[in-house]
Amino acid sequence: MFNNLSEKLDKALHVLKGHGSINEVNVAETIKEIRRALLDADVNFKIAKEFTNKVKEKALGQNVLSSLKPGQLMVKIVKDELTELMGGEAAGINLSANPSIILMSGLQGSGKTTFSGKLANYLKNKKTKKPLLVACDVYRPAAIDQLHVVGEQIGVEVFSDRDNNDPVAIAQAGIAHAKANGHNVVIIDTAGRLAVDEAMMTEISNIHNAIAPQETLFVVDSMTGQDAVNTAKAFNDVLNFDGVILTKLDGDTRGGAAISIKSVVNKPIKFIGTGEKMDAIDVFHPARMADRILG
Ligand code: GDP
Repeated sequence: MFNNLSEKLDKALHVLKGHGSINEVNVAETIKEIRRALLDADVNFKIAKEFTNKVKEKALGQNVLSSLKPGQLMVKIVKDELTELMGGEAAGINLSANPSIILMSGLQGSGKTTFSGKLANYLKNKKTKKPLLVACDVYRPAAIDQLHVVGEQIGVEVFSDRDNNDPVAIAQAGIAHAKANGHNVVIIDTAGRLAVDEAMMTEISNIHNAIAPQETLFVVDSMTGQDAVNTAKAFNDVLNFDGVILTKLDGDTRGGAAISIKSVVNKPIKFIGTGEKMDAIDVFHPARMADRILG
């Protein structure tokens, strides 16, 4: 995960990690290299600049130059700042209502259906939860089939209505079905399109308004870098969602989305997807991610 970024940050910090003398020149060089590494990872220019300015300020404030172990101190500063940038603490999901309704949003191909299954499986394994999956993609019959396949795989019931082309009505019928059958979590998978468009935004917004979910989650493919961040912004403007799901972190992703999405939309990343299988789901821990990035 983020191999390139980790390598570049390691290189940037290497000068200070070693026994070489520490001075203002190589601290400045380190800061510059950190900024370059972030830009290469597809972090937005403004965020990279703000980040390195903060690191620099902190480093000078803590007097890295006169520290006994300036290298370690600098690594700690970068790690702490990365953790903060990615959201600080891990953020949970709100499951206090009965049933708790979780609305999934995102572009087609982002991994929504796969993640809906993973989340249902994750919650089912907690024993106290009995999830229901609801298929609200009325445009692609294959998407409904896909959710049924996933449901069968994990042993979770899937609600769908192939004769209905109104996603709001299907979502409402799904929730009624959950209430009548003792499901305490309802995960609603919605249609996505290949790019943000008005019709999609209106549709997801209508579903959102009609069912008032406890959690609205935005699913995004981490491989798409700054596009991921822009798409998140577009969805958040309409839905004011509660959290981000970052998928495909097992792939050759550069890291920009993980690092910058929180500061752009001010919503936490709640889970990550790390593979195609149903158990490839992890709670997102900013500190652990920072540790991984810095090795
Ligand atoms: P949707 O259109 O948003 O519902 O996206 P899908 O759930 O159909 O996922 C699109 C493709 O991405 C499928 O081939 C999934 O198997 C794959 N996929 C989803 N999540 C992950 C992940 O975390 N890692 C990897 N490697 N592939 C994933």
